[in-house]
Order: sequence, then C-alpha cells, then structure tokens
Amino acid sequence: MLETVWRSADRDGSRLLRSAAALAAAVARLPVSLRATAAQDGLDLLAVLAGLKPLCLAGRGGAFDAEFRAALVAAAAAASLPVLEAAPWEPQAAPGVLPDWYRAATAQRCAKMRVLYLCRDVGIRDAAAALSAQGRVAAADEAALLGYPLCCVVQHHRQALGLEQLTIAMTARVAQGDPDRMARLIEAGVEPLPASAEEWRDYRRLTAIAPAPATSVNMCAACAGDDASPAAALARSHAALAAATAYPLRN
Ligand SMILES: [Zn+2]
Repeated sequence: MLETVWRSADRDGSRLLRSAAALAAAVARLPVSLRATAAQDGLDLLAVLAGLKPLCLAGRGGAFDAEFRAALVAAAAAASLPVLEAAPWEPQAAPGVLPDWYRAATAQRCAKMRVLYLCRDVGIRDAAAALSAQGRVAAADEAALLGYPLCCVVQHHRQALGLEQLTIAMTARVAQGDPDRMARLIEAGVEPLPASAEEWRDYRRLTAIAPAPATSVNMCAACAGDDASPAAALARSHAALAAATAYPLRN
C-alpha cells in the first residue's frame, strides 16, 4: 500500500506517483546498457521523496546520460528538493594506510569529478557539500547521509581501501617505481590490470560485491547472510516503494 511507504508532505502520494512514472519513462528511453544503474538512481530518488532516506547519490557509474540527469533534477525540483553537483566522496583512511603522494593525486582527480546529490532538505545538502569539500569521509557520515546500514558501509570502506592499496602496488609495477609517473597515472584515473595470479586473486576478492536488491547498498558479510539484517530490511522497504508506485525494478 502506498500509505505504508509514504511519510512526507505529498499526502495523497500523487506527486510521488507522477515522479515514478516520469523517471520510469526516462529510464526506458536510455540505451539498454545504462538502464540498470539509472533505474536504481531513480528508485533512490523516489526513496528520498518518500522519506525513506536523506539523500540520493546519482551519477557515480561514469556515463551519466544528460536527459536522464535532467529527469532526476526535474523530479527533485517538483518536490523542492535541493540538488547539489559536487565531487564524489572517498573512504577515510587511518594515518599511514595510504601514502601522501597517493592521497594528493586522488584528491586532485576527485576535485575534477562531479556527481549529483539530491537532498531531502538544505541541511542535508550542506552536510553533503561539506563532505565533498573534505574528500575522504568517515563511514558513519556516509552511512547517515545515504541512509545505509553502518555495518555495510564500514565493510565497503575497508574493501575500497584494500583495493586502493592494491592499485598503488600495481601502479608502482607499471610505472617501474617512478614516483612522478605513478602520481600522474593515479591522477588520470588509470587502473592497471592485475598481472600475476596473486594480484588477480586479491583483485577479485576486493571487487566482489553483494548488492542488496532494489538499493545501492553493497551488503556486508553479516547482512548478506541474514534475512533479518538491516540491509535486508532496507531492500524490502525499497521493493515495497517500487511496487506501490508501479516503478519497474528491472528494465
Ligand atoms: Zn551490513
């Protein structure tokens, strides 16, 4: 039932239904290869509109279709949601985990990138802007703004930092240890491929994910194995929202 997922000012849910229809139509106009990511971005925005999460982060996947981006912005504008275009967040690392030259190079790269933050209110927008300015963010801050289970974000950060350390080692191999070349490769976003069986094993382990259905959450191991976990509950609430608004989960 729509009422069970609807908690905001749009009392009869008519605006939510219109937004769901407009976003679904915008997804359907996309090339097939872009639809899955866009459909999830659209559902994340509907979840913000329905009061299920504070912020929808869209456009992470690289290719971001201009018309679909406009559809997201239009749906946010119809509900007077603040929209921020700013740098993506990266996981905070404890001192010594990432070398200074690498942190500087990734900060340079991220400062040039833009993702879309569609926010519940101006307080959330300001918090998102502060994190974008900060660059590397704590798991607790990211989990709070995105409405993700903290356990899942903590594991995702640990895995992402492990992948960054592997990338540093592979970049050093490709650049034959030349520090200037290593920094240039990282700043340009070049990701060397694993060369040895050991690198491939680490790469597969560090890039393995368990998506929670109907959400953008990468589930932690505990959540993935438990139907009563916070990630499983979130997946059910998002699936219920999609069902209540006739928003297609698969395109
Ligand atoms: Zn979890």
